[in-house]
Amino acid sequence: MNLSPKSKKHFECEDIEKYIQQYLDNMLDEEKKRLFEEHIEYCLPCDKKVEFEKKFKEVVRLKVKQELPKEVVQQKIKFILKSLK
Ligand SMILES: [Zn+2]
Repeated sequence: MNLSPKSKKHFECEDIEKYIQQYLDNMLDEEKKRLFEEHIEYCLPCDKKVEFEKKFKEVVRLKVKQELPKEVVQQKIKFILKSLK
């Protein structure tokens, strides 16, 4: 028997919603991180969501850093959204 109670634990889509920011900030503990990554591996919508959030954060960070004009940021976001379709 290799079905320990632990291996039955898994993340639902709502857990991904809940932890996505912490995941991106690298604030999750090892186990949660593992469960998180496990979920996005087989759940495409969540995978896309994480991808989007990740890119979105990068753009926001860039904006903060370089004071990009609003149009440029909007352009980038549009581009990201397109690439995710
Ligand atoms: Zn999901």
